[in-house]
Amino acid sequence: MNLHLPTLLTVCVAALATSAGVMTLYGSTQRTYRGFGWWVLAQWLLALGCLLQLFRDGTPEVLPLANLLLLQWPIVVLAGMRHFCLRHPSRVPPALDWLLLALAYLVWLATWAAQGSLPATGAAFAGGACVLHTYSAAMVWRMAETRGSVAMKLLVATDLAAATVQAARLVLALSGHTESAASQEMLLASGMVVVASSLVMVYLALMLTNERSEANLRAMHRKLRYLADIDMLTRVPNRRRFHELAGQALAAGPLQPCALMMFDVDHFKRINDLLGHATGDEALRQVARCVRDSLRALDVAGRLGGEEFAVLLPETSVDDAMTVAARIVARLGDRQVAPSLAPLSLSFGVVQLHPGESLDDALRRADQALYEAKRQGRSRAVPAFGMEAQPVFGESRSLGLTSL
Ligand code: GH3
Ligand code: MG
Ligand code: MG
Repeated sequence: MNLHLPTLLTVCVAALATSAGVMTLYGSTQRTYRGFGWWVLAQWLLALGCLLQLFRDGTPEVLPLANLLLLQWPIVVLAGMRHFCLRHPSRVPPALDWLLLALAYLVWLATWAAQGSLPATGAAFAGGACVLHTYSAAMVWRMAETRGSVAMKLLVATDLAAATVQAARLVLALSGHTESAASQEMLLASGMVVVASSLVMVYLALMLTNERSEANLRAMHRKLRYLADIDMLTRVPNRRRFHELAGQALAAGPLQPCALMMFDVDHFKRINDLLGHATGDEALRQVARCVRDSLRALDVAGRLGGEEFAVLLPETSVDDAMTVAARIVARLGDRQVAPSLAPLSLSFGVVQLHPGESLDDALRRADQALYEAKRQGRSRAVPAFGMEAQPVFGESRSLGLTSL
């Protein structure tokens, strides 16, 4: 096969300039991330390198610059990757990338300057390109963000394909087959790989940008979800999330017996009035901490509002729930919110969910029991049985602490 090199180069230049142009257009109109500029630069330099190759026969002085522009591609793309993955910096210093590029280039330059024969300069170029592509593939493979990124793996594959073609060219050049049909085919293959790499790079740059945007969106969604679900003061689920989690736990059933308790800080308003809102906030944080420390993983707690909390205790009897209430209060007794403040006291209303009863109905019954606990003098847990219309309150359990 007889190749018309200028035609091949012209086609390559057109393809390379098109891919560089597409990336430039994308970068100037869409949201991109650090590193994108390096990838665009690598593409333009590659196109320019190919363009200069067109003049190599008439003006051989362009060859040093043209070959430098061809060799730079894997290293400048790698520089873009390093910037793109800045959050997970590589342990290999970036200076090594540039040092390798300089070395590969200087070896070729020295061979060329020494008026090396065509096989020698061809071998120097192919050897250098092979090393740079292999090095770049290894560096990208080591990057933490490669895990799970199809685009990163594709770049590694592209670099390895280019390295393989260059290795084959090196072997041919070393064996002196510069004018053979195999050498011509290799030249064609190397042109195709250059163009293919640059086209793949367009796809990669877009894919990586898309992957990063999606990851950012997912993180933002998680953050928004957290902000919508968690009560920022106490870090327990808010009323809406409590309903959601308790509903899910009940739907997963069967959890019988399942207890629900509602509790409230006694005379909380006085804490605010006497010691200030900030102390009141700290008191609420301590209550939430004691609740969290007293529950199992399958229990669901939430702040219903103000100084009122609710806890769903699957597979727990009313009696056991009263013990959990006593445990929470005992933990609270070990803590001091402010030096001048006696330990906080809590009042609980405790019910057992009837089979098929909705969470709202059970919460209303627990609220009745809580109201009864307040009526009986606070700092106690009161169980409620029967229906909402006719509650039957059981024997209350004093929780040992005096109310403020
Ligand atoms: P009781 O024993 O009957 O429950 O009396 P109480 O004073 O605890 O109840 P009341 O409902 O009268 O007062 C609740 C107070 O809780 C009023 C409100 O200002 C305060 N409060 C509600 N949310 C917060 C909060 O996030 N931080 C602080 N510091 N106070 C809050
Ligand atoms: Mg209260
Ligand atoms: Mg209240």
